[in-house]
Amino acid sequence: MTVTDLESYEDALSVYDPVMGLEVHVELGTKTKMFCGCSTTLGADPNSQTCPTCLGLPGSLPVVNAIGIESAIKIGLALNCEIATWCRFARKNYFYPDMPKNFQTSQYDEPIAFNGYLDVVLEDGETFRVEIERAHMEEDTGKSLHVGGATGRIHGASHSLLDYNRAGIPLIEIVTKPIEGAGARAPEVAKAYVAELRELIKALEVSEARMEQGQMRCDVNLSLRPHGREKFGTRSETKNVNSLRSVERAARYEIMRHAAVLNSGGTIVQETRHFHEEDGSTTAGRIKDNAEDYRYFPEPDLVPIAPAREWVEELRAGLPELPRVRRDRLKSEWGISDHEMQSVLNAGAIDLITATIDEGAPSDQARKWWMGELARASNETGKELADLGVTPAQVARVTALVAEGSLNDKLARQVLEGVLAGEGGPDEVVEKRGLKVVSDEGALGAAVDQAIAANAAVADKIRGGNLAAAGALIGAVMKLTRGQADAKRVRELVLEKLGVQG
Ligand code: ADP
Ligand code: MG
Ligand code: ZN
Repeated sequence: MTVTDLESYEDALSVYDPVMGLEVHVELGTKTKMFCGCSTTLGADPNSQTCPTCLGLPGSLPVVNAIGIESAIKIGLALNCEIATWCRFARKNYFYPDMPKNFQTSQYDEPIAFNGYLDVVLEDGETFRVEIERAHMEEDTGKSLHVGGATGRIHGASHSLLDYNRAGIPLIEIVTKPIEGAGARAPEVAKAYVAELRELIKALEVSEARMEQGQMRCDVNLSLRPHGREKFGTRSETKNVNSLRSVERAARYEIMRHAAVLNSGGTIVQETRHFHEEDGSTTAGRIKDNAEDYRYFPEPDLVPIAPAREWVEELRAGLPELPRVRRDRLKSEWGISDHEMQSVLNAGAIDLITATIDEGAPSDQARKWWMGELARASNETGKELADLGVTPAQVARVTALVAEGSLNDKLARQVLEGVLAGEGGPDEVVEKRGLKVVSDEGALGAAVDQAIAANAAVADKIRGGNLAAAGALIGAVMKLTRGQADAKRVRELVLEKLGVQG
């Protein structure tokens, strides 16, 4: 990797305005591929999910996947797009070893959905409208695995392996219009847009949109133009950025790099770039082909798509509650601030919390455990909350045990710790670790007596009216019961035994 000159972010923005374009590819969660009946299940043996059509063998013919079309229309509608009354697939011709047909079946000048927008909420609560140029249908390519080199890249590899299981899996590509006017917040807008889009896709249940698994990937186009200039600068296109944080970093890096090149009198070449997770940098890929180099032409083997208006309206009426509306509703139901809701979203906890509430937990308790103890565990292990191995039902059970008084917060934390460690469900952990609030009044009374005897001076202070000193005795009782007492009840007992009014 070569060291690249960068302008400071502030200096770059004092001279230039960034213009961005985001292209997001979403792999649909259909059972079968876009143009054949092959399965799309992940993790199968290489090339076990292929057929003459997705291998591009002579004489094979594609048949379009109806769920693929339906999903594309749903996405278009949710993005406030117009839905084409008539559109076609097109062949995008280029050679690449992981694309066995030698062309990608895509859409070109006749996308299924166009002219929409998505409103995204920034961290300060302000709404920014990102305009959508188009959402079109296409298919994924296979995967190449370069073997024998140190980096997994083709350079230095002794040979390459090809797996066509992914070839032909339906993709929806969503392309924004140029995003102008975001200024220094351009990277934040990029991240917020991809985050909002991901929520939308998940709400529509057309894909799980897991970025870390490549089910959703973003190309970040970016150019700079001097303040006051109308004409766009030349863009770079950072490909396949696959986390929200990386989208933000890639945009930021490109702003600093473009500014350094332009300030030194250089010119930006229109090229693709690779993003590097380790240091947030980008490096040059290939010089970008023009559309004419792809020799796009209408796909002769597939009939045009003309979705009936009644069908489109039926799909529109059947759209689920969209993420923004749902967020606003939950925010008021839970009685939390914008800022608190933002933390819930950042933690990816909204569905887990709602599921925990559905299992019977009060909303403040559900939020407290997911955003507290479990968020901490997620930070420590680097795992997503959803992948920690604790279910909403288990968290709800813990809150129920606290509510009925068999656990206090401290014990509840230990129970969750046990569940996280794979010791079983909450009741099992309580059983195995012997975690239960000592609710046996006799045992508790004995512990209080013992603490008073051992701390005679403190007891005298309390008798003399210094109620603040009670903390020390309560602490002593908690120690004697290994934390397994209800602190409120202990306080009552201490005061009662010392003959003071609480
Ligand atoms: P390509 O097929 O070359 O990637 P697309 O039109 O599919 O082209 O996508 C280009 C993306 O970049 C779009 O989101 C578009 O709005 C955006 N864009 C176009 N020109 C510029 C520019 N000069 N600077 C920044 N973004 C741009
Ligand atoms: Mg592109
Ligand atoms: Zn197939």
